[in-house]
Amino acid sequence: MEVTISIDDLHPEKGWGCDGDESVKYLQKLYDEFGCKFTLFTPSYYHKEYPLSKHKDWVKYWLDKEWVELAAHGHYHMCEDSNKHGECEFFEIDTEHKAEERIQQCLSEWDSVGYKPIGWRNPGWLIHPESKKVVDKYFDYVALHNDHNHNMEWESRMFFGHDSIHDTDISLHDGRIMFQSHIAGDWNDNVWNEENYLQFRNSIIYLLDNYDIRFKTLGDITNVKNVIYLINVGELGYTEHTIPLIRNYSEKVDADIIEFGDKEFIESKYPSPNFLLFDIWKHFENSKYEKMMYIDVDIRILDHSPNIFEHVKNFGMVEDWKAPLWRKEELQKWFDKYWPGLECNHYFNGGLQISNKESIKTLNKLVPDDIIDYWRSHPDGKLRSQNQGLINQFVAMSGIDYQALDDKWNKCCRNKPSSDDYFIHYVANKSQIQTDYDCFKDNVYNPNIEMRLDTLR
Ligand SMILES: [Zn+2]
Repeated sequence: MEVTISIDDLHPEKGWGCDGDESVKYLQKLYDEFGCKFTLFTPSYYHKEYPLSKHKDWVKYWLDKEWVELAAHGHYHMCEDSNKHGECEFFEIDTEHKAEERIQQCLSEWDSVGYKPIGWRNPGWLIHPESKKVVDKYFDYVALHNDHNHNMEWESRMFFGHDSIHDTDISLHDGRIMFQSHIAGDWNDNVWNEENYLQFRNSIIYLLDNYDIRFKTLGDITNVKNVIYLINVGELGYTEHTIPLIRNYSEKVDADIIEFGDKEFIESKYPSPNFLLFDIWKHFENSKYEKMMYIDVDIRILDHSPNIFEHVKNFGMVEDWKAPLWRKEELQKWFDKYWPGLECNHYFNGGLQISNKESIKTLNKLVPDDIIDYWRSHPDGKLRSQNQGLINQFVAMSGIDYQALDDKWNKCCRNKPSSDDYFIHYVANKSQIQTDYDCFKDNVYNPNIEMRLDTLR
């Protein structure tokens, strides 16, 4: 589970987030002890007294900490008429023209310290709809308050959730815990004083004891570069065991998950869900992500698996365990019949693929518009492999620089899997997952269960 902690109003004034402040010591301790990460929402010219451009050392102090993200939080934070608008700087600003002017001043302060914040929170939570139009152009995400946002739709990624650091009753927002606080100020009760620090520390200990917790800044969550695609069609009982493990892994390797499900399958009119893979390739080509993994939902990811995105440079798959027995030879026969001269060097299993953008672009050029018509007009005989033959054909034809990955990354359950493997593929008999014949039942390896074909039936 991801946990974010944001802190508002930091600026270069003693007591408001400077080296040596009591509050800052607490943040450092929370990082040292638990690895907590923080998003610091910082006004660029707080109360017309603390311009960032005059406090470069202060900005550097925070930017040097890998566990901290600096984000924007207005320019002055204050209003011309504080009686009327309090500290809601961008609520008082009520025209696009004025908002543009102020945001340019804000960005130029940030620019002067060589840093461009990607996140924003409205000072005093509120924003005028005219100001919102302008602010929305400049940031990748905005941190909002459910009530105070008044149902405005932002182009930027929207984060909701503001459980106080001293709350003991916290809720989930999009599956995450989102703590919010202020660095100081007598008018706030969720500030970083000793009492709140001690309560917060207890909350973190409780969460770490009971959940698999990962600390993230809002920027970390916004800037995810990898994506894991799943095809999950129909009611597959075993996904209740495999998908939670895929979710854990996605958090560990910093990847989003995108599922192609019943809706996509019905719309596609494909004879089998596995042809959705070619839709996934197209989806990825047009996405913001840099690398994708496709993984069958009957693959169990073991907890100790390293980050596969770091192992694959351009494109990677694992050879089918029966390739050397007969499948590679069959594939070559199929190639010879329809694409003479095309050489089959590997016969990959379709259950796992890693790719960067360039490789998928090259592959997509080879995929015909009507993939089913194409598949039917090139019957693959003994292979009877649906998308798997086609994937291999496109990979062989494309000339992309691929890696044949170690079979740890897609170990067929009938091919003597061990606890040294990473991804276990239950292709033989889908009812075997989480049964007494599953040597990885409950994700604990049991060496006494030998997963042979006969024991799996
Ligand atoms: Zn504020």
